[in-house]
Amino acid sequence: MTQSQFFKTNEDGTLSCLLCPHECTLHNDQRGNCGVRINRNGDLYPDNYGKVSALHFDPIEKKPLYHFFPGSQILSVGTFGCNLRCRFCQNYEISQAKAESFHRVSQYLPDELIQMAKSRRDNIGISFTYNEPTVWYEYMYDIARLSKQNNFYTAMVTNGFINKAPLEKLLPYMDAFNVDLKAFTEDFYRKYTSSRLDPVLESIARIRKAGKHLEITNLIIPGLNDDKKIFEKMIRWILNQTGKDTVLHLSRYFPMYKMTIRSTPVDTLEKLYHIARKYLNYVFFGNVGIDGMGKNTLCPDCGNIIIIREGYHTSKPGLGAGGTCSRCQKKIIHFC
Ligand code: SF4
Repeated sequence: MTQSQFFKTNEDGTLSCLLCPHECTLHNDQRGNCGVRINRNGDLYPDNYGKVSALHFDPIEKKPLYHFFPGSQILSVGTFGCNLRCRFCQNYEISQAKAESFHRVSQYLPDELIQMAKSRRDNIGISFTYNEPTVWYEYMYDIARLSKQNNFYTAMVTNGFINKAPLEKLLPYMDAFNVDLKAFTEDFYRKYTSSRLDPVLESIARIRKAGKHLEITNLIIPGLNDDKKIFEKMIRWILNQTGKDTVLHLSRYFPMYKMTIRSTPVDTLEKLYHIARKYLNYVFFGNVGIDGMGKNTLCPDCGNIIIIREGYHTSKPGLGAGGTCSRCQKKIIHFC
């Protein structure tokens, strides 16, 4: 069984897991907040290594990643468990599953996933998604390393709630990230996710500093994180820390899991979109189609239509050589 790489033994014989900022202290046979990492006789083990709950070739747009090899397919893998407790989780059946009672899994060794990735010619690599990959860190790390040896690209879809050391160890093997920035107040993170905002911001800044492809998703929930002033503060932070070309996905919320608040009104999304566009070049809608905005990629300099999206289908009428605008040659897409 694969042992965890990040923990310390305390004087009283307990273990502290150092993978994510919860830093759970665990007695023998006790699991952490994520429900999948367990202290077994003084060693820490991830109980979900190799246990795959979902495995599909997906359009890269579904992750969502809009400016990373647009129009391509990526083999997408997920296990179960999560280090957050979001009351509005859209994937709660696998994220909140308990290791001892969740049996909807198939076993795959990392190399078996690589062989599967090779089976489709238009596949660019492997993405770690569906449930939080941080809680299956060792499995993700092993697959990501093998992926790079096989010239595949890698992408992590994450809540960003991971400690510095494991993130830095992973960075050389990860090409792209979509980080879920759920709100811009500690209060929201504490009340609705049972976690904290600051470590997520640190992860986003670290990923950008490492030069990785970064997109951010923000799910807008009416009355909880749609305050215009706080939203604008968040957008300014994104601009200052990651730059105006960072892709932002504004996602529409629907009632799910423990959250019964009505779905996000379209006009709320439109108002926030206009605020975001004052600062950022590329802002898109998720879970909703709104005519004339937030769907296609336009050149921010000359307005040329670079990428047209219809559902998960893309065409690239304005994408020139090397990811540039075919009209004014501005660099738009760094990976294509
Ligand atoms: S990964 Fe799991 S066990 Fe480790 S600190 Fe986070 S929640 Fe706790």
